Amino acid sequence: MITILGAGLGGLVLARILHISGMDVRVFESDASASARHQGGMLDMHVESGQAALKVAGLYEQFRGIVLEEGDALRVLDKTGRVHLAEAGNDLRPEVERGQLRAMLIASLPEGIIRWGHRATAVAAAADGTYIVTFTNGLSIRTDVLIGADGAWSKVRPLLTDIRPVYTGLSFAEARLTEVSSHFPEQGEIVGKGTVMALSERKGILAHREPGDVLCSYAAFEAPAEWSAEVASKAGGLLEDVLMRFSDWDRPLVDLVAKSEAPLIARPLFALPVGHRWTRGPGVTLIGDAAHLMSPFAGEGANLAMRDGAELAQALLAYDGAEAALAAYEAVMFARSESAAAESATGLALCFNDQAPHPIVDFFLGMRSEAETATGAA
Ligand SMILES: Cc1cc2nc3c(=O)[nH]c(=O)nc-3n(C[C@H](O)[C@H](O)[C@H](O)COP(=O)(O)OP(=O)(O)OC[C@H]3O[C@@H](n4cnc5c(N)ncnc54)[C@H](O)[C@@H]3O)c2cc1C
Repeated sequence: MITILGAGLGGLVLARILHISGMDVRVFESDASASARHQGGMLDMHVESGQAALKVAGLYEQFRGIVLEEGDALRVLDKTGRVHLAEAGNDLRPEVERGQLRAMLIASLPEGIIRWGHRATAVAAAADGTYIVTFTNGLSIRTDVLIGADGAWSKVRPLLTDIRPVYTGLSFAEARLTEVSSHFPEQGEIVGKGTVMALSERKGILAHREPGDVLCSYAAFEAPAEWSAEVASKAGGLLEDVLMRFSDWDRPLVDLVAKSEAPLIARPLFALPVGHRWTRGPGVTLIGDAAHLMSPFAGEGANLAMRDGAELAQALLAYDGAEAALAAYEAVMFARSESAAAESATGLALCFNDQAPHPIVDFFLGMRSEAETATGAA
């Protein structure tokens, strides 16, 4: 029996592939149900990772049914609203709403595999080589193969390493607008069909379109890690503080955040050190953010979590015994996540600097010309 902690995208892909291959698997998840928490946000699925994992899981065709058409269009602006780059979607990295993707994976598993309402408080190694996981609901379980798919603040990670996520210095304030075509047409126009990134002076307003006439936006800025706790207690709260930071920005752009119908959600960005790894622990490993949390500026986190899940499942199916499988999985995963984490740190630096938006525009133009050269050479 394989025990997975966490029903995020990584844990679910792993569970799905093991299940359809006839292995016994169970997933313990802290959410009370599949719909307990708004998942939100768009994810672009990369060919070699997210899409490849869905193919192994036998869910690629179903995934195509929930892709947001032309959701991969991209525009880069500056603080005045001037457009520096506008690219139409090309379907190489199709966009999907995270909640719909997660719901599809959950529905692909029979009832009972995911044990909802199980928040792990502690995980301990027992003398006989097994692991004991204790939950807030008073239950505890024992397992000899434990996979930590429990995200940024993993309870399984301390079994393998003392390393903890470090604050990147950047915080997001998340906003949401609904019924955009009738209530917020100007903001709908700014975002277009996909994503907009307005960047200047080490700050940004980032927004993307979601299915159902919805826009999800972020104000992004450098702030101390305690920023949200400090401003939340003040009279104007998060919103007033964010508006002050963007007071000289184009007003319709700022309204992507200022007109939010839901209270702003603070999202300080944390990352694990680039290239960190651990010494193998028998019967235990990590996938996704638990293994390699990184800032979202390479758009890789969810993709890597799914690829980890797929590759770990394939290793568990291919090798005789869990130990060899976990060792083979980690060897490949460490190298892959190191380069993605480095890319992600570079992406953050390209977006938030004194010359913004030019460095990231040049980067995208360079990528485009590389792709054109590759196509021309093919
Ligand atoms: C603002 C933002 C934008 C992003 N955009 C992108 C993007 O465009 N593309 C991309 O690829 N990635 C993106 N990412 C990164 C992506 O969200 C993560 O990398 C991805 O969700 C990791 O998946 P996971 O399965 O490892 O972990 P998670 O999605 O965090 O899932 C972990 C699961 O474990 C459960 N859990 C946690 N603790 C416990 C516990 N103690 N007991 C039981 N269960 C527990 C949680 O409830 C959750 O269901 C973004 C991240 C942020 C913050």
